[in-house]
Amino acid sequence: MAEVIDLQRRAGAQQKQRQALAQRRAGAVAAALSCGLCPRRCAHCGLAIEEEPPIASSPAPYTFCGPCLEEYQAFCRREQEGGPPEAFWHSPQWADMWRTWLEHMRANDRFRRSPEFLRLMEEHQD
Ligand SMILES: [Zn+2]
Repeated sequence: MAEVIDLQRRAGAQQKQRQALAQRRAGAVAAALSCGLCPRRCAHCGLAIEEEPPIASSPAPYTFCGPCLEEYQAFCRREQEGGPPEAFWHSPQWADMWRTWLEHMRANDRFRRSPEFLRLMEEHQD
């Protein structure tokens, strides 16, 4: 009889551990996806934006600090018009970094709007 009770206690403890792990994982997913959404922080470099009002998202899709907005616009010019690099670091790898970062942000947006993400938030956020 004592063994049955011990097994039930152990199963309950394991269930609580699984729930706690799921809660931590949901929190990590939510924290990762909130990155880049703060209107007072640059979506690209994360620095606080002190301009008042913050630099508008337009024509950029995300809120950028001044230098990141200039870099984003340089990337857009390079993609649309080509031409020589505007700075020595504007290499093919730099352009690929911007291309990949923008796609990463779009993928985050798509996931945030998915039913699975909404369910995750409903079930695991306090
Ligand atoms: Zn920035």
